[in-house]
Amino acid sequence: MAEYAQLVVDLSVDALDRLYTYAVPEGMSVRPGQLVAAPFGPRTVEGFVVSLSGECDLPPEKLRPLSRVVQEEPVILPDLMELARWLHGRYLCNLVDALRLMIPSQLRGERVRPRRVRMARLALSGEALEGFEAVSRRAPRQLEILTRLKGGDVPTALLDAGALRALEKKGAVTLYESVLRRTPRALAGEPSDADPELTQEQRQAVSRLTRALEDGGGRFLLHGVTGSGKTEVYIRLIRRALEMGRSAVVLVPEIALTPQMVAWLHGRFGGDAAVLHSALSAGERFDEWQRIRSGEARVVIGARSAIFAPLQNIGAIVVDEEHETSYQSDRRPRYDARQVAWERARQHGAVLLLGSATPSIGTYMRCMPGVRPENRLELIELRSRVNGRPLPEVDIVDMRDEFARGNHSIFSARLAARLRACLDEGHQAMLFINRRGHSTFVSCRACGYVARCDQCDVTMTYHQAENALRCHYCGKTLPPPKKCPQCGSAYIKYFGAGTQRVQEEVRRLFPDARVARMDVDTTRQKDAHARILERFRDGDANVLVGTQMIAKGLDFPNVSLVGVVAADLSLNLPDYRSVERTFQLLTQVAGRAGRADVPGNVVVQTYDPEHYGIRLAARQDYRAFYTRESAYRRVAMYPPFTVIARVVYSARDPEDAQSAAREDARRLEAYLDGTGARRDTLQLAAMEAPIKLLRGEARWQLLVKLYFKADVEAVAAHMQALADAAPKNVRAELEINPNNMF
Ligand code: ADP
Ligand code: ZN
Ligand code: ZN
Repeated sequence: MAEYAQLVVDLSVDALDRLYTYAVPEGMSVRPGQLVAAPFGPRTVEGFVVSLSGECDLPPEKLRPLSRVVQEEPVILPDLMELARWLHGRYLCNLVDALRLMIPSQLRGERVRPRRVRMARLALSGEALEGFEAVSRRAPRQLEILTRLKGGDVPTALLDAGALRALEKKGAVTLYESVLRRTPRALAGEPSDADPELTQEQRQAVSRLTRALEDGGGRFLLHGVTGSGKTEVYIRLIRRALEMGRSAVVLVPEIALTPQMVAWLHGRFGGDAAVLHSALSAGERFDEWQRIRSGEARVVIGARSAIFAPLQNIGAIVVDEEHETSYQSDRRPRYDARQVAWERARQHGAVLLLGSATPSIGTYMRCMPGVRPENRLELIELRSRVNGRPLPEVDIVDMRDEFARGNHSIFSARLAARLRACLDEGHQAMLFINRRGHSTFVSCRACGYVARCDQCDVTMTYHQAENALRCHYCGKTLPPPKKCPQCGSAYIKYFGAGTQRVQEEVRRLFPDARVARMDVDTTRQKDAHARILERFRDGDANVLVGTQMIAKGLDFPNVSLVGVVAADLSLNLPDYRSVERTFQLLTQVAGRAGRADVPGNVVVQTYDPEHYGIRLAARQDYRAFYTRESAYRRVAMYPPFTVIARVVYSARDPEDAQSAAREDARRLEAYLDGTGARRDTLQLAAMEAPIKLLRGEARWQLLVKLYFKADVEAVAAHMQALADAAPKNVRAELEINPNNMF
């Protein structure tokens, strides 16, 4: 009999990140994972029961009793409690922050309740009903209710209250309560789709995966070219898991951008499928969570936080488009959903399946021989498109030539001609603009020269406020060039061509085109993505202009042309991953063309046509790209060969941020010298953060680069301790290999 409960209180304060012991009062029964209320100082707080024990070292007068149970059912399942502890250790976050990831916020504090409705049902049938109707001739409102109920149960709110009461009294009708589910838009509609026959490659992949599932789990990378039918492989694996009485999770980068994945999974799994993501209303999310918790839904589709869904006995965890940066959280806890998926799959003996046409360098490296078994992924490949459809033809257009020939427009002659032909044939086109690098780097229109840092081999960023080029890695600054240092041309300028300009240009050159645009400006409203995509799918629009948003996962059979308006924009971002991201984007966008019977063409416009990131994306040659890129990372000592860690200090007063960063740099240096970890440190510096002022706060950073074999965990823990001990007026945050270094 448990007499003592260890709680973590539901207050996210570093100083309270420990377990508090309470006495369990006589007659109260508590279980681990339950939400309870307890006295805390002068007030009462909620807390999660982490563990129970029969003994306790505290003197009885120090012990206070729990106040009450908040939720009867444990809100945290045992395996998720274990996972929370793992997150706590791995990402150095407060335990309560880890637990909060696992339940809808509405559950804490009981802000949302299941929506209950009273329903009426016929209690009579056959002759009894006929007899009853015969004697009720004089009560038309009662008869009307009976007629309606013959067609199925009806909420009482829709029926005449007096007549209903009379019917209930006479025993002709029974009333009951039902929990109403709020259905997310994406899942509305009937499941229908039938199974296509698998291709040879798909069949082999499915058989390898189901064998692993039956044998207690495994970890795989499904590397399949665009249009190779990866989704169908996921579906068959999940189906097998369900047959075995197990459950499954499918993570997607962003639900709004992958409506087709949701539709496909719902089509096949119907009511077994649930979606979880942040764009759901609070009520929808709560209801979906309940459906999963109760075991009613066993296939969960969602963005990164869906990895914490309260599923039991998981058989398969799929991470689609595993290379996407959105799997890494940019808020505390800064978890990486792929790593969490790895851990959760281990806990459950599940199959972990990462899928991509362009795996991240770090992931692909895990498939190489020589990787230790505990880190290894098994590679499964789909080398060809479904039904032998060819990969699209990709033309690279050198925009420097266009410029030299006097074409100063944003469309090359080739792209303009192809677009004309595409529209004339009644097909559709997608035009892609890479907004990521919008206007931030300096490039020469005549020769393609781009300003780079000589210390770091990354592009320098133009900062308007100080009218200077800055390197985001080492802090070096240069005045912006007036003439191109390479060719002397004065056509050197800040690069950028927005979606809006492209849209206007299409309208000007092709008055008959019906252009839809998808970018952050046009998709602010709920469900706006879906509406734009529907317009395009229905043929209402025949040209779709967009950013990254149109690059992934979309499957439009009538698209025969994809134009990449400026491929270099992301090539020249101040980030060591800029080539990888460009390669991924180009490969993904190109993959949108020619997915059905219409063959596809892709035109890639660039100032840097010889760049391996562009050439290899045009050939859709991932393997060659991987070889090139990993060699570069090794030589330049970037992740995955090294780890970049930083603490960002934000403060109202720049002096405070600066002195905190400098102080901590000294302390960390002393620590590294003391532990001998110094020799694994490639770089350690305190400097202004690339964005010096954010929301009115000055930012400094302590940046450290370590060999990946170094004792990174110990160094990170030490940096976290330094961050925790930052002065009151400074906010300090640790980041490991962050997605963005701004
Ligand atoms: P990927 O994610 O690998 O780019 P998808 O999963 O989007 O590819 O599949 C591409 C298209 O091929 C989809 O329209 C899908 O319905 C279809 N498809 C997949 N497998 C098969 C198959 N075995 N037979 C026929 N069509 C298939
Ligand atoms: Zn530099
Ligand atoms: Zn030049």
